[in-house]
Amino acid sequence: MEIRIENNLQPKAKPDPTSLGFGQIFTDHMFVMDYEEGRGWFDPRIVPYGAVPLDPSVMVLHYGQATFEGLKAYKTAAGHIQLFRPYSNMERMNISNDRLCIPRLDVDFAVDAIKQLVEIDQDWIPSAEGTSMYIRPFVFACDPYLGVRPSYKYYFMVIMSPVGAYYPEGINPVKIYVEEEYVRAVKGGLGFTKTPGNYAASIKAQEVAHEKGYTQVLWLDGIEKKYIEEVGTMNVFFKIDGVVITPALEGSILAGITRDSTIKLLKHWGVPVEERRLSIQEVYDAHAQGKLDEAFGTGTAAVISPIGELNYGGQIISINDGQIGPISAKIYDTITGIQNGTADDIFNWIVRVK
Ligand SMILES: *Cc1c(COP(=O)(O)O)cnc(C)c1O
Repeated sequence: MEIRIENNLQPKAKPDPTSLGFGQIFTDHMFVMDYEEGRGWFDPRIVPYGAVPLDPSVMVLHYGQATFEGLKAYKTAAGHIQLFRPYSNMERMNISNDRLCIPRLDVDFAVDAIKQLVEIDQDWIPSAEGTSMYIRPFVFACDPYLGVRPSYKYYFMVIMSPVGAYYPEGINPVKIYVEEEYVRAVKGGLGFTKTPGNYAASIKAQEVAHEKGYTQVLWLDGIEKKYIEEVGTMNVFFKIDGVVITPALEGSILAGITRDSTIKLLKHWGVPVEERRLSIQEVYDAHAQGKLDEAFGTGTAAVISPIGELNYGGQIISINDGQIGPISAKIYDTITGIQNGTADDIFNWIVRVK
């Protein structure tokens, strides 16, 4: 399918690169494609960024049938523009789509569409250290219908937002509240998909944690409230007695691409890694024995977010004296180095736009 291009004849002024923040400013163009039952995906187009007319009865607004992805484009010092593992994002979107009864996308076509969109708005990619352009592909049900069933019509869209450095003042470990009342997802539900409902389910706990002075929550499993799942909207790792442990993917956890990249790097470096069930008690016991070396979250936005403090039922522990640990720092430097073109891309993760 050929992508139709309609140029934006009224491009916006570019933002001040020192005050970008996250997800507040959008580029001049967006990608749109329609789906109709019996016809499949059609009319792929890159058009000026702007509002889309929606009937108030569109199914997504009532039943939440939607999925999304998040990845970034980076500008290297040599002037190349590159994406980090975009095929993994679009393959994961199809996993989410299957669960939400949304039609699959052609992965190669979707990545090509993203590449074309990035190329058209390449002047929007900031170049200062730590900055990038966040890319948000998403699909949603747009049948005007108030019955519960899979929609017959969808939109697939991609919008982009230049983002500032996540750590403008250096990496600061965060304080995390271990959530014992609310749960994010259970096996059999939507936890392994990137769908808006998972976020809707998480906002309340995040608000309560913020009020208590914590940055994010550590989610426990929804059944026994014993086993660690994720931290905020990131996957989570603990280094205990020299072994890096992360919760296994058992249906309630998102298979993060940064999680996978972290595991591959650790194995490559010969650091023992285990994907298994890990209880919060085991983490506290390890801390009591002086064996809890490091803890960190992983995700596209921050890459690595070290955990400096945990509060579990009022028992507060400090990890690595609230400082970033050596493994966290090495993973952060390596992944960001590959992304911005200063480190060897040993796993062929980079896809060049130009
Ligand atoms: C997106 C997301 C992650 C991180 O995935 P990455 O591919 O590493 O960005 C982790 N947990 C949840 C719930 C997410 O939505």
